[in-house]
Amino acid sequence: MVVEIIVDREKCIGCGRCYDVCPKGPLIWTKDENGKYYAYNVEYCHNCKFCAGRCPTNAIKVLVKKE
Ligand code: SF4
Ligand code: SF4
Repeated sequence: MVVEIIVDREKCIGCGRCYDVCPKGPLIWTKDENGKYYAYNVEYCHNCKFCAGRCPTNAIKVLVKKE
């Protein structure tokens, strides 16, 4: 499975919930110099969508590019 995780930088408030709820949080999520989170190791993602479901500003989209 190939997954793409898109974070809308304008919507991200840097709360870190994506990191916290993701079963692979430390492997997948990190933040940039502005405190905005992004997914950098998407090969570890298994498409549970916990991150998207818990994001308070609906900033995350998890897309399956290939099954
Ligand atoms: S849960 Fe949403 S708003 Fe919070 S850090 Fe992650 S992407 Fe940003
Ligand atoms: S879909 Fe699940 S495994 Fe993938 S980044 Fe979000 S919480 Fe983590």
